[in-house]
Amino acid sequence: MKRFNSPEDFLKELKMTFANPSTPLPGAEMDKTFFEMTEKDILENYAEFYDEVIKHHHGLDLMVNEEKQQILEALTPELRNKISSNVAIGALNTGEANAIIVKSECKKFAILVNYGLMVLLNKFLKLIVAKGNPKLVTYCNRKEASELSPEDLQQYLDDLSGACAIFSAPHGVLIKLEESNEGLGTVVHHLRIAELFIICHELGHFLNGDLDKDENFSAYLNLGWVKKFTRAPGHEQEYNADTTGYDLLRRVVTIDYPHLPERTPLQSIVLLSCLLSLIYGDEPSPSHPSPTERVLHIARTFFGTEFAEELRRGYEQPELLDSLW
Ligand SMILES: [Zn+2]
Repeated sequence: MKRFNSPEDFLKELKMTFANPSTPLPGAEMDKTFFEMTEKDILENYAEFYDEVIKHHHGLDLMVNEEKQQILEALTPELRNKISSNVAIGALNTGEANAIIVKSECKKFAILVNYGLMVLLNKFLKLIVAKGNPKLVTYCNRKEASELSPEDLQQYLDDLSGACAIFSAPHGVLIKLEESNEGLGTVVHHLRIAELFIICHELGHFLNGDLDKDENFSAYLNLGWVKKFTRAPGHEQEYNADTTGYDLLRRVVTIDYPHLPERTPLQSIVLLSCLLSLIYGDEPSPSHPSPTERVLHIARTFFGTEFAEELRRGYEQPELLDSLW
C-alpha cells in the first residue's frame, strides 16, 4: 500500500505518474493505446495546437495553484485547515477534458483539473467573445481576421464540439483577441471565475461529506493505489455540491473581485455549462443532472425562482441571456 504524508505528496505522485502520457501506466494497456492515439492525432493534424499546449503547460499549473490560494484565503482558518490537511488541488494532463476527485488508499484526496478542460474552456470563451464582436479578433488561422463574421465563429464553435466528442481533447481553430478589457480581458475574467467554480464544486463534495463514503469511489484506470470519485446515486449530491460550491465562490468573489455585480459569477458558470453541454450533451445521466438544469438550480437557490425562470427563457433564446446580467 502506498502511504502519503500529506495530500500534496499524493498529488506529486499522481503528477509523476502522468508526466509522460506515452509511458504505459502500471498495467494500463488500454490507456497506453488511448494516449498514443491522442498524441499522434494531435501531433499529425493539429501541430499548431499541440505547440500551444506544450508551451502553456507550466502556465496551467500556476493558474490552478493561484486559484487554490484564492479559495483558501477566502475561508475561515478552521475550514482552510480542514481542506489543506485532506485535499490537494492541482492541474493534470490525463488526456481528458474534465475535473475529477481521486483518493489514495490512506485517504488523502486530490482535486484534479485536467489540462484538456482548461485549454478547451479558454478556446470556447475566446470564440464566444469573438462571435459577439468579430472586430476583436486580431488573428485567425482559417480566415483573414478582418473578414470574420459571427456565422464563421459559430461554425468554429460547432467544429469544436465535434472535435471534442471524437478525441476528448481540445483542438480546432486558432484565434487571437485584442488585449483590451472587452477582448482578452473578458475571456480571462470568465475563465478565472469558471475555473474557481470547478474547484469550488469539487470542494463542495468534500465539505458535504460525499467523499466519506467508500461506495462513491471506483477503480481509476489500472492504478491500484488510486480510486476515483464516481458514484452519485440520483442528482441530489451534484445539486448540493453546486450549492456549497457557489457559496464558496461567492466568498472568493467578495474578497478578490468586490466590484463585480452580484450575478456576474453566475454568468461565467452559464458559459461553463454551455461548454459542458457542447462536449457531453445537455441530457441528464444517472449521476449528473444536465448542465443547464444545474445552473438553473444555482440560480433558483441564490437569486430566486423568478430570476431562474428568466434564465431558463434565456437558454431557449440565447440572445436574451445578455440582457440578464
Ligand atoms: Zn460533482
